Amino acid sequence: MAEFPSTARVVIIGGGVVGTSTLYHLAKAGWSDCVLLEKNELTAGSTWHAAGNVPNFAGSWAVMNMQRYSAAMYRTLGQDVDYPMNYHVTGSIRLAHSKERMQEFERVAGMGRYQGLEMTLCSPEELRDYHPFLETHDLEGGMWDPLDGDIDPAQLTQALAKGARDAGGRIERFCPVEGLDRDGDDWIVKTEKGEIRCEYVVNCAGYYAQRVGEMFRPFGGRRVPMVVMSHQYFLTEEIPELAAWTKETGRKVPLLRDVDTSYYLRQDKNGLNLGPYERNCKAHWVTPEDPMPQDFSFQLYPDDLERLEWYIEDAMARVPVLGTAGVGRNINGPIPYAPDGLPMVGPMPGVKNAFEGHSFTFGIAQGGGAGKVLSEWIMHGETEDDMWAVDPRRYTDYADHDYCLAKALETYGHEYAMHFPHHEWPAGRDKKLSPVDAKVRAMGGQMGSYNGWERANWFAAEGDDTSEEATQTWDRNGPWQARIKGEVEAVRDAVGVLDLAGFSRFNLSGPGAAEYLRGKISGALPKPGRMTLGYFPDSRGRILTEMSIMRHDEDHFTLITAATAEWHDFDVLNKDLPGGLSLTNHTTEFSTLIVTGPKSRDLFQGLDTQADLAASWLSIQTATVAGIGCFLARVSFAGELGWEIHAANADIPALFDAVLGAGAKPFGMYALNSMRLEKGYRAWKGDLSTDYSMLEGGLERFVKLDKPQDFPGKAALQNEKQQGVKKRFVTLLVEAGDADAPYMSCLWHGDAVVGETTSGGWGHRINASIALGMVRADLAAPGTELEVEIYGQRCKAVVQEDQPLWDPANERLRA
Ligand SMILES: Cc1cc2nc3c(=O)[nH]c(=O)nc-3n(C[C@H](O)[C@H](O)[C@H](O)COP(=O)(O)OP(=O)(O)OC[C@H]3O[C@@H](n4cnc5c(N)ncnc54)[C@H](O)[C@@H]3O)c2cc1C
Repeated sequence: MAEFPSTARVVIIGGGVVGTSTLYHLAKAGWSDCVLLEKNELTAGSTWHAAGNVPNFAGSWAVMNMQRYSAAMYRTLGQDVDYPMNYHVTGSIRLAHSKERMQEFERVAGMGRYQGLEMTLCSPEELRDYHPFLETHDLEGGMWDPLDGDIDPAQLTQALAKGARDAGGRIERFCPVEGLDRDGDDWIVKTEKGEIRCEYVVNCAGYYAQRVGEMFRPFGGRRVPMVVMSHQYFLTEEIPELAAWTKETGRKVPLLRDVDTSYYLRQDKNGLNLGPYERNCKAHWVTPEDPMPQDFSFQLYPDDLERLEWYIEDAMARVPVLGTAGVGRNINGPIPYAPDGLPMVGPMPGVKNAFEGHSFTFGIAQGGGAGKVLSEWIMHGETEDDMWAVDPRRYTDYADHDYCLAKALETYGHEYAMHFPHHEWPAGRDKKLSPVDAKVRAMGGQMGSYNGWERANWFAAEGDDTSEEATQTWDRNGPWQARIKGEVEAVRDAVGVLDLAGFSRFNLSGPGAAEYLRGKISGALPKPGRMTLGYFPDSRGRILTEMSIMRHDEDHFTLITAATAEWHDFDVLNKDLPGGLSLTNHTTEFSTLIVTGPKSRDLFQGLDTQADLAASWLSIQTATVAGIGCFLARVSFAGELGWEIHAANADIPALFDAVLGAGAKPFGMYALNSMRLEKGYRAWKGDLSTDYSMLEGGLERFVKLDKPQDFPGKAALQNEKQQGVKKRFVTLLVEAGDADAPYMSCLWHGDAVVGETTSGGWGHRINASIALGMVRADLAAPGTELEVEIYGQRCKAVVQEDQPLWDPANERLRA
């Protein structure tokens, strides 16, 4: 037997589907010096279940990408590694009980089409052609996915393990990781069998990930934000009618998901397997009285069929043969949930050279793709496709145990729910409050959560319908629409104020800070006393992030960025930070008020502001407003004359009162979004992502290829510039119907899909529907007529000049 390894490049903790898939991808890419440590036998890791569904459908672009990759990979994996597997591509249908659900299917089918998947919408009658045992009289329709199926999870894990071993990867079974240490930049992974010194460690410990995460705490790690839920399904005994049909046709019935009722129903041998995601769901191991056992592998929770009763009855009415057979076996197993139900795949927050691949609710379906993504993170520090939706850094310090539990229960109970654009999920709220939160709410603020921070989305007036039900629509119109219009008009004609709590805020200083930043951004730094947008490309010249850079002095900066980007952007700045520079996070100490509109200068003058109000656009200065010390930045994301007031939290209430008292109308995030679209200002992880290069993103004016400093992606951008870009960022005016274009809607030219939207919405100042997007470079000329597919409807969309739709010459904001 080979000796226990004392060194490795990568150690993966956990040998479920995700760990083995990661090892497989690393080894296949030539990184054979990698070891996987599994505390048990390798099966499908520690979760027992008969077969895993492998869907393509997902509301998130990144997750759909991962699932599509898995499904394609599994089709040939058995052959590729010479390990035959049970993988049944049965196809699947999803049922729609409402028009809104059909619209959701249209949208996902559009996303799928862009990714090369053929999902089609069906009438109730067509559904019966696919599934002969189905009752359809009360349905609106459904969706058919020919590539859906189910796979044996244990065989899948074994196949990945075989492939990994054949390619040189090493697997140590019955080898629990007991602790970690650091020696310089090396990790020391401790096990009973010995220690392994390595460069990178990956936490792939499934529902044990929080426990394994504790080992990283001494090295900067946080408590892993997840909760273990119980998920049950039961298998019926043989159903003679089903057996006869299968014998006759030689097929299984397709997998069925009644997403409005919330269950899946799959053929298993000649019986059926019913798995609900019940509202009255249950979390385990969440109190000190009910600790997680040291090892629960291959064990199940006691049956709890009562919880499923309502779902079982509904399913029996939908597929009556289900009621003709007895219950054969019930499976009630642990399933990890991150607060949003999406997995954690990527860099471990706060810990150098450590990664995470855990909290999978659909780990069988996503494991193949997740292994690819994790191996890219480890080998290259970046991924082929933008993976922010599953990046562990999307949750910051607000995601404590109470939050995780509340969200896990909500997410599990609404596993298949539709995510409407004006809906805010109610659980786990009020984690971070602005200093003027109570006042904002008292004025009618309808709150939204941004990295845990509560901000007003819009302000309701007396009598407005602010119920959750009112938001259950894809349409633009709702009780909010007239209010947003009023807020935008106040900013356009007079002055508005937005309480923008939770802007991420970092200070960078020390000798050489400027030179350090020049080596990170593609453009130039502002002069002291000024600010600019700094773009940080990745090594391929793609848009990693954007920050506002304020320069106080030669080597003293404040960097401001999106609330959700807090940990991501801190990492970007902190990576390779030279000794002698100081980088500090001040997000929770200060807050921001955006005061903007043509009368904003008058407002400040009326407040006895001690500042140079004639200082030009993009100037910054310390000031006093209404006698209170603060900092003014002359900039406006709304595209009007305006200033941001930055001040210590304690000073914000008085400043807010003063600004309101001087006549500013409060406005919310929806109004701000409408106005930034009219200006063509990009939003992070919609319009700005690593799916696009700086040049594709139309950000050439922020790229200085002739500057002496090297910066990430410089060579790639030089090359791209020579070759010519393949895609271009465009602003489109859309002849939209009731809804504006959501993120990732297909752009059509004739019969060809030629691009996608990156955001869309209604511009209240120009009174038109706007979409921002990426289109094939040869179709980016102003005036080009395209179509954008909005929930299945193709709407005319015309490419606009490369300038803002509102105030193209930027005269208003320079006034
Ligand atoms: C009833 C049920 C039905 C399901 N149905 C589906 C489905 O249809 N489709 C689907 O995609 N998903 C399904 N899932 C979810 C799926 O099973 C999981 O998402 C998936 O198994 C997770 O894989 P993983 O590799 O992340 O974790 P795991 O499979 O849990 O593997 C983690 C591994 O880490 C090991 N480990 C933990 N701590 C240590 C340590 N200290 N040292 C070494 N090793 C350690 C564990 O022993 C384990 O083997 C279902 C789950 C349940 C319970």
